[in-house]
Amino acid sequence: MADKRDYYEVLGIERNASESEIKKAYRKVAKKYHPDTNPGDKEAEAKFKEASEAYEVLSDPEKKSQYDQFGHAAFEQGAGGYGGGGFGGFDFGGGDMGDIFGDLFGGMFGGGGHSRQAQQNRPTQGAHVRARIHVTFEEAVFGTSKKIEISLKEECKSCHGTGAKAGTSPTTCPKCGGKGQVVFTQQSMFGTVRNVQTCPDCQGTGKIIKERCPDCQGTGYTSERKTIEVTVPAGIDNGQSIRIRGKGEPGTNGGPRGDLLVVVSVDRHPKFQRQDYDIFSTEAISFTQAALGAVVKIQTVDGPQDYTIKPGTQTDTRVRLKGKGVPSVRNKNVRGDHYVTLVVEVPERLNSEQKEALKKFQEAMGEVKASSDQKEHKHFWEK
Ligand SMILES: [Zn+2]
Ligand SMILES: [Zn+2]
Repeated sequence: MADKRDYYEVLGIERNASESEIKKAYRKVAKKYHPDTNPGDKEAEAKFKEASEAYEVLSDPEKKSQYDQFGHAAFEQGAGGYGGGGFGGFDFGGGDMGDIFGDLFGGMFGGGGHSRQAQQNRPTQGAHVRARIHVTFEEAVFGTSKKIEISLKEECKSCHGTGAKAGTSPTTCPKCGGKGQVVFTQQSMFGTVRNVQTCPDCQGTGKIIKERCPDCQGTGYTSERKTIEVTVPAGIDNGQSIRIRGKGEPGTNGGPRGDLLVVVSVDRHPKFQRQDYDIFSTEAISFTQAALGAVVKIQTVDGPQDYTIKPGTQTDTRVRLKGKGVPSVRNKNVRGDHYVTLVVEVPERLNSEQKEALKKFQEAMGEVKASSDQKEHKHFWEK
C-alpha cells in the first residue's frame, strides 16, 4: 500500500484533468498494456490493472472526490470490493468495468469477457405452433386419432436455409462483424453508457445476403402444408392440449424445432355431461317402475346397461355405476364413475282403461275419490 502509485500519476494526467481527458488517458495506457497485446507479460498486466483501477475511481465523480480528499485511504476499508491489498478483489468480469472494456475494446481485440455479444447467435429453439381439433364426447373418452393439416415453416430446399441465391453464399455482416449486435456509447450524467443493439444492417443474423434466394425471398424458409397425425389419448378433457415435439417452427443457428401444441375441443353430448373423470346423465323411469321396482336399460358410454331399480324408488334418486366413467388420461384402466339421476315421469295422457286402474289404485290407497275433472287429476299427480 505504501508503494501504491497515485492514480493521476498512473494515468499521466494533472489533478484538474477533465472527464474526457481522464478517459483519453486511460484509453492510451490501457491499450498499451492490454493483456491481449502483451501476452504473458506480467509487468504489463500489472500496469493494465493499475490503470483500470485508477480509471474506475477517477471516472466516478463520487469516488474521485473521495480520492481527492483522502487519497488511497478512502478505499482501504474494503469499500467497493477492492480492499487495501491492491487489485485482488476486483471483479473484472462484470459491472461497470466490463462495460468500459467493451466500450474501449469491443471488436478491436475480441478479448475475453464480452460474452453478452455472442448470445445473439447461439442456437435457439423454434417457436411453438398452436392448432385446434374437435373430437366427440366418446372420442375424448376412449381416445382417437385425428389428422390435421397445418402450414409449417421448412428449411428452403434451394438455399438450404441460407437465404442466398443458389451459387452464392451469405457474407459476414461488416457492421457488426457477424455478432448480430452493435455497441454504441452515450454520454449521460452517470458517465459513459454502453448500449448494445441488434445490428440494423443484418437484423441480428450476423450475415448479409447480396442476392436473395428467389424461392424463399431470402428468408431461408418456405411454408409447406403438412398433414400430421394426432393421437388423442383416452380421457382427454375439453381445453387440454397435446404436445407433439419437434413439429413447430424450425430453430435458428442449429437450435431444435419448436413443438406443435394441439388444443382439444370436446363437443357437447346430448345426454352425457362430464366433470373430470365422472359422467352424469338422467334417465326417465315410469311411476310403476319406480313403485314396483324393475330392470331398466341405462345408457352409458359403453352402451346400454341393465340396472335393477328397487321398489319404492323416489324421483331424483342418484345411482352410481362404478367404473363406467372416463378413463384416466394417465392410466386408461382407471376409470371414473357414471352417476345417473332417475326421474319418475308422470303420464301426461291416460286412456280410460288406465284412468280406471289408477282410480282403483287411488281407492286402494284410501284417498278421497278425486273429481273427474282433468285439471284436478293433473294437480293430484303433480303433488
Ligand atoms: Zn431459399
Ligand atoms: Zn450486422
